[in-house]
This record gives sequence, structure tokens and C-alpha cells, in this order.
Amino acid sequence: MIRPAELIQRKRDGHELPGEEISELVLSYARGEVPDYQIAAFCMAVYFQGLSSAETFALTDAMVRSGETIDLAGALGRRVVDKHSTGGVGDKTTLAVGPIVAACGVPFGKMSGRGLGHTGGTLDKLEAIPGFRVELTTEQFVAQVQEIGLAIVGQTANLVPADKKLYALRDVTATVDNVSLIAASIMSKKIAAGANAIVLDVKVGDGAFMKTLPDAQVLAEAMIALGQRAGREVVCVLTDMDQPLGRAVGNALEVREALATVRGHGPADFAELALDASAHLLALSDLGVDRVEARRLAEAAVADGSAVAAYERWVRAQGGDPDEASLPKAPHIREVFAPRPGHVQRLSALPVGLAALHLGAGRREKEDSIDHAVGVVCRKKRGDAVEEGEPLAEIHAADERTALEAAADVLAAYEIGDEPPRPRAIVLDTLG
Ligand code: URA
Repeated sequence: MIRPAELIQRKRDGHELPGEEISELVLSYARGEVPDYQIAAFCMAVYFQGLSSAETFALTDAMVRSGETIDLAGALGRRVVDKHSTGGVGDKTTLAVGPIVAACGVPFGKMSGRGLGHTGGTLDKLEAIPGFRVELTTEQFVAQVQEIGLAIVGQTANLVPADKKLYALRDVTATVDNVSLIAASIMSKKIAAGANAIVLDVKVGDGAFMKTLPDAQVLAEAMIALGQRAGREVVCVLTDMDQPLGRAVGNALEVREALATVRGHGPADFAELALDASAHLLALSDLGVDRVEARRLAEAAVADGSAVAAYERWVRAQGGDPDEASLPKAPHIREVFAPRPGHVQRLSALPVGLAALHLGAGRREKEDSIDHAVGVVCRKKRGDAVEEGEPLAEIHAADERTALEAAADVLAAYEIGDEPPRPRAIVLDTLG
């Protein structure tokens, strides 16, 4: 039997803990045998002292073993690929990548999460589609991937229950932003969901957990190492989150933009990221193609309409209406105008994400309900030229008051200068 207080003390004093002790601590906590306050103290000790790679793996492995695991590869008799984003503003990548990958003949079954704070969540975006059901049983999920080639659902209740408890505790004890804890949390869910190969989109910038490229590289390397130890292939793309991804931020607005991208008319940065991530997934799949051929297949699926057909089949299979006209629309649309001519030097992601949150697109607390129609459309992005009085952005709001408040916040997110800024690619680095 472990003594949690002793483990906390040893970690506090900078000692490396044996894997079995970490494992027992996590599994005892998941069973309710160790109180929150001791785990909170343990997380704070980890926050200051860090975890070795062996300790991080022991934590991840114990979290996986705390609940059920899914053998999608066994059920399909195929190599299974999965993706995950560390979270950002306007990140609707899964909604475009799923149909593109499925249209290329690679089964895509993904468990996604909800948004919290200024970052959105795929499940909330999907629920903007009238009728769409995100809660399927594991059997329904597997059957839909078998029949339709694509299913995106909420995490089942018993997948990595230790992470659910731990994440909720970290959220209120200032212990979220530790590389080992983030890496273990993300990778435990990916490993339990059963993919053989995983593409991780690690966001970098003011709207992301990782504010700088070196920090994002450290997180990426930690996740790649965890994947390898668990026998999974992991590729990390490190992508720009210093401005919102694409133009749309807000649930129905993002579904519309993802659909436009699947049809080949998406904004350049988002379309590039969706095609790049799709190409990585296809190259890691059992199609036996390299990255160049995979990219060609992904582009062809968009160009020949097979990706949009996959989108429609998938949405119908989960009870949703794939017709874009059925998506909810906000009653008030207010434009934000450029106060001077020039070039957009900066469009900070965080204040745009917060403006969308205050409009009602996200939740401040877990139990909050959300308004799927509201959000922000950034008509101008970093590097774009603007005339004085030209619209920079549109606010989609439930009422005039919230529209006005969001307009002021979004205007403050823009910085306009004389010269165009140095161009920055959407994909900043690729590791693994
Ligand atoms: N996303 C997760 O799933 N877990 C973390 O700890 C951070 C981001």
C-alpha cells in the first residue's frame, strides 16, 4: 500500500518516484480511495519539480488502465488513425479532416471534447447542426465507422476516468499548464481510444496553452515519446495560434466554414492545415502512400466532391441535417470597421476567443448552456491591407448590447500599421 503523503513529500523534494507507486496513486484516486486534496498537492509538487519520462509514462499508462479501452483496429481489421488538437480559437479542423480522410477510404472514428473557456470544442460545433447526436454507445460508434467510414462522438463515460477527475482538479488548482501533466492527459485518451497512429496538432501562440515554439516543441516531444512507449506512431504538427484559425469563431459559423473548406472554398490558412493534417493521417494509414501521394489524394477528394459527399453521409448517419441552410443564424450582425488605413499587423487570437465566449459561443463553467449561432467572423487577418472604414470583422450576436461589447473587444484585437508584417506559415514545424 502506498502512503500518498510520503509520495507527495518525495516529489516535493525533487526525487524520482518508481512507476508502480505513481500507478497505484492514480488508480487509487480513480477508485475514490485517495482524497482530492492529496492529489492536488501531488500535482502542485509535479508542477514545480516535473516528471521524468519514465514517471510520465507510468502516469499515462495508469490513466489508460483506469477505464475501458476501445479496440477499433481489431473491430475494423484495419490500421486506425486519429488526430487531436491541443485547442485554440476557430479550430474546426476535425470537421474538415474527418470527411476528407474518410473520402480517401481510411476509416476515421474520433472521440472529441467540449470547449471550455476561450477555446472551442468539436462536440459543441457538431451540436450546432440540427439533430446531430454526439452521444453514441461504443457499439454504435464502432458500427458507424464500419458502415459509413466516419464517426465523431463524445468520449464514453468510462474512457480514462482518472483523467476526467484529475483534469477537473487541475483546472481549479492552477496545475493545468505543466508539460508532463498535459502530455499524459492527452495521450492517455488517444491511447485508450485505440488508434495505431496519431496526428497531434500542437497550437502555438497567444490563443494556445503553449505560447512559444520552443515550449510547444517540448510538449510535442513528450507526447511523441509517450506514443512510442505505448507502441503508437505519433506525428506532431506545430501550428500558428497567434491569430484565429480561418475566419470563423463560433459553433455554427465554424461548421459553415468547415463545409466550405470541404467543398474547396475555405480560407487559405485553414484549408492548408486541413489538407496537411489529412495528408499526414493518410500517410500513416494502411493505404501505403507517402506524404506527397497522400496530399494529392486529399486535394482530389476535395476537388471531385467526394469529401463533401462523405460529410453529408456522416452527418445524416448521426441524425443531423447536412444542409447548410439549416444551421442557426444569429439575429444581430454588427460590423467592426478599420479606424485607419494600413495593414493588419496583429489579430490576437485570445481576445477574439474571449469575445466569442462573452457572446455565448462558449462556457465559463462546465454547466453553462451555449448559443450555437453567435460568434465572430474575421474578414481581415494578419497581413491583409485595409482602407479606413473598411469592415475588419462581423459580430454575430443574440442582441444589440452583447454585439456592441464584442465589437469593442474584437476591434482591440486588431493592430493596424503601415507596412505588411513578415509572413508566417500556418504550419510552423513538424516533429515525429
Ligand atoms: N487538453 C487535455 O486533454 N488535457 C490537458 O491537460 C490539456 C489540454
